[in-house]
Amino acid sequence: MSYTLPEFLAHAIAMEQEAVDRYLELADMMEAHRNDAVSKVFRDMSHFSELHRDSIRERVGATELPKLKSWQYRWRTPPEVGGEEAFDYLLEAFNALKYARGNEMRSLKYYRSVAGESQDSEVKRLASEFAAEEREHVLALDEWLARTPRPSTTFADDPESMEPV
Ligand code: ZN
Repeated sequence: MSYTLPEFLAHAIAMEQEAVDRYLELADMMEAHRNDAVSKVFRDMSHFSELHRDSIRERVGATELPKLKSWQYRWRTPPEVGGEEAFDYLLEAFNALKYARGNEMRSLKYYRSVAGESQDSEVKRLASEFAAEEREHVLALDEWLARTPRPSTTFADDPESMEPV
């Protein structure tokens, strides 16, 4: 996974944009179920991802970025989604937080592996910086998970969603 700087920046922007959109969805969902505390967490996370996306865009400036396929940056859909009971699953704040954590963890690992494998010193530097930011996100979600009651039904354990940072 040795990217050129434009390839790396294209991934990072797409990943942040995906996070912005997904966090807004999660925020709206929590709001619809009057879980205002968790809705606010997701709105804040969306906002931070937006700021991050914009600062990466500034870094890009006029550089031409490659186009990516959506599977290269999309969040994974929650496990065991399908039918209406899946919808109930998602109503649980705990599961929504855990879902977000799993995806943050994937971003963290992605940036870490780029930082470790890249030959380009600027890609390395930025990837480590972004990995540190993702780590903060995972830790923030961990704090929320710790104070959120565990629902009666949980996702079948997704290893990345509970993996320590
Ligand atoms: Zn993040």
